[in-house]
Amino acid sequence: MEDKNLLRYSRHIMLPEIDIEGQKSISSSKIAVVGLGGLGCSASVYLAASGVGELNLIDDDSIDLSNLQRQILFSEEDLNREKVEIAQMKLLSLNENVQVNSNNLRINNSNIENILEGSDLILDCTDNFETRKIINAYCLNEKKILISGSSQGWKGQFFTLDFRNENSPCYECFFEDLEGEDLSCRESSIFSPLVGIIGSFIASELIKKLISLSEIKSEIIEIDLKQNKFKKLNIRKNNNCPLCSKVKK
Ligand SMILES: [Zn+2]
Repeated sequence: MEDKNLLRYSRHIMLPEIDIEGQKSISSSKIAVVGLGGLGCSASVYLAASGVGELNLIDDDSIDLSNLQRQILFSEEDLNREKVEIAQMKLLSLNENVQVNSNNLRINNSNIENILEGSDLILDCTDNFETRKIINAYCLNEKKILISGSSQGWKGQFFTLDFRNENSPCYECFFEDLEGEDLSCRESSIFSPLVGIIGSFIASELIKKLISLSEIKSEIIEIDLKQNKFKKLNIRKNNNCPLCSKVKK
């Protein structure tokens, strides 16, 4: 590692759980961030600052005035511009060591393979069930690690699904009942610091995966910022899951 980077990442390297080896793992990682709303913005800032190797940014939206209340990568001068373009520019100005790619598009069944094939870990920061299901099915098939966050009002949640383990539940194992609902935050209320907290949690889960600190735990962590309540819910593979119960091993 170059001297400049030893200094840059010194506060990580001083953590015995990270050290130089861990920082090297972080620096060689390839991450996709799907969705650059509040969660995607805050997670990608910490990932770029931590020196991940590559960040693939995916979003097809442009920046709206109502985004500035919580999407910390964007400023007034960026209104109406593409989110991925501005995010790429700001993340590169934070850390030029990171390879930042921008994809101004929406993930669908026909483009997902091309867009995500180079990424080892996928952060799902999207705002609708349809895209979440497409990303889940892809990560399940490709045995990738999926870290997912969502937030609405005062409450947010996140979970990690490590499909390298064939006993891992998938998103549809536990969210099949919610089919048809939409968690779009475009029109719904959201407490600004909540997305910073959930975004930081998913960046933390991801970095812990990269340094192999985090064991594979099948749980959803739910945070209620109004009451400062923190809840863990166990999730299990569902034998009647419409998706993963049918996947060939
Ligand atoms: Zn499943």
